[in-house]
Amino acid sequence: MSSCADSHVNFHVLTLFPEMVSQGLSASVTGRAFEKGIISLETINIRDYTLSKHKKVDDYPYGGGAGMLMQAQPVYDAFRATVDRINESGGDGEKARVIYVTPQGRCFRQDMAKEFAGERDLIFLCGHYEGIDERVLEEIVTDYVSIGDYVLTGGELPAMVMIDAISRMVPGVLKNSESAEIESFGNYLLEYPQYSRPEEWRGKRVPEILLSGNHEKVEEWRLEQSLERTRRLRPELYEKWTAENQEYFIKKAKREERARRKALKQKKALGVP
Ligand code: SAM
Repeated sequence: MSSCADSHVNFHVLTLFPEMVSQGLSASVTGRAFEKGIISLETINIRDYTLSKHKKVDDYPYGGGAGMLMQAQPVYDAFRATVDRINESGGDGEKARVIYVTPQGRCFRQDMAKEFAGERDLIFLCGHYEGIDERVLEEIVTDYVSIGDYVLTGGELPAMVMIDAISRMVPGVLKNSESAEIESFGNYLLEYPQYSRPEEWRGKRVPEILLSGNHEKVEEWRLEQSLERTRRLRPELYEKWTAENQEYFIKKAKREERARRKALKQKKALGVP
């Protein structure tokens, strides 16, 4: 991992559709973070690097088969130019991680987003058509990452998804630095349900506990809700959490046993059979 004292992450995206990426990320939270200089985005048009007279970047695959393939030369030259620029800006372009977004990669997850957020420079490579000539992938890619088991037309949306999730992990990007920690997947658990004004909407009231002002009870209720929701919707995550948090259930069982005994004693004292 390259050092990153100021936690600034520079995203470099190699693509045939640079506007799609820059426009898609220019709004809302990422857009604000670019303006503040907490993260930066450079889009590199692979087509600008082709040596072909007609600006061609794709060709038929050897051995036949459907569709066209992005050729090695323009991708490699675009990558080299990016590495040079990173070096000129004081980084180490040779060591920068190069993420090829591909349905064949490891599935992108929150812990990966957190890990990538510790890098100074991240290079994303977006494929199109039937993908990219294998030889250039072997030469430059360090990480093969997918956003799920389905095939999209190009890598621009996956790169944007990843850049969005990674950016939220960079200190200063979110207004409330806490919120990324307690959100879904922060600790295997899905987030608890949330409510805003008004207190009653279409006959549905906000749970009373949230209006009580008792922070301890609110936290307890939220954890219970998170546990219940995760158990129901994502049982595999629930199992991971319970495996790491056995003491929570021991404490809970003890609390319940104490309450049961207390109630029993009170009944006896009152002479209730
Ligand atoms: N022929 C390729 C295959 O079967 O693996 C799929 C090519 S796809 C039509 C074109 C490009 O979209 C890929 O090179 C990749 O960059 C991107 N892509 C498509 N689906 C993706 C996914 N689920 N995750 C990440 N990138 C994806």
